[in-house]
Amino acid sequence: MAPLKVTIWNEYLHELEHEVVGRIYPDGIHGALRDAVLERYPDALVRTATLRQPDHGLSDELLADTDVLFWWGHKAHAEVSDAWAAKVHAAVLQGMGLVVLHSGHFSKPFKRVLGSHASLLWREADEKERLWNLQPSHPILEGVPAYFELEQEEMYGERFDVPTPDELLMISWFQGGEVFRSLCTWRRGHGQVVYFRPGHETFPTYHHPLICRIVANAALWARRRVTVDASKCFQSRELEPVPNPTKEHI
Ligand code: ZN
Repeated sequence: MAPLKVTIWNEYLHELEHEVVGRIYPDGIHGALRDAVLERYPDALVRTATLRQPDHGLSDELLADTDVLFWWGHKAHAEVSDAWAAKVHAAVLQGMGLVVLHSGHFSKPFKRVLGSHASLLWREADEKERLWNLQPSHPILEGVPAYFELEQEEMYGERFDVPTPDELLMISWFQGGEVFRSLCTWRRGHGQVVYFRPGHETFPTYHHPLICRIVANAALWARRRVTVDASKCFQSRELEPVPNPTKEHI
């Protein structure tokens, strides 16, 4: 199989602005996610892009050469240009995978791809999260036990305003009593879309071995299978003549 081409997009503001976050993620959240993918798939080509780079670190060539794009954003969703959100959306329809993490639920690309507001309940109270594995045979959950816990996380609760997922793979329970659809998939056009909830920036969630495993599994599962140029899918086509049977054929 050709090497997996992963692009990790990160807002990369909290790590630079908040000492606590910078200590947890000295190479940025994108660095931790890159390590998670490379640990499991050392041959993968992993590139990173961040908000404040020109064009947010993106290019048409990069999207076309990306099998799966990860997206982590939080406080600066509005700074992402509508034009790049539209290009990410188009790339998904053509076959690129998209894995949206944690507060990326409010990102322009995710809301656009799902066509929903993606609102939810939240509470930042350093509470325990228990994640339940609903589909142990699914490739994204390979190696993941029936449940596991994160000692400290931000709470996200229902109702999560998204279209009913094609696959609901994990549900989270929080100490405060709320539950949340934590790991979901959708197909949009020719692309696979994954949402995975954990990953608040003040907790070391992306250093947790099982979270890293799910991140890497999701990269492989959501990867591009085809590239279909939608602009070439609606074309007139001449009727091909069907040969009449001749005596030789009968
Ligand atoms: Zn958060």
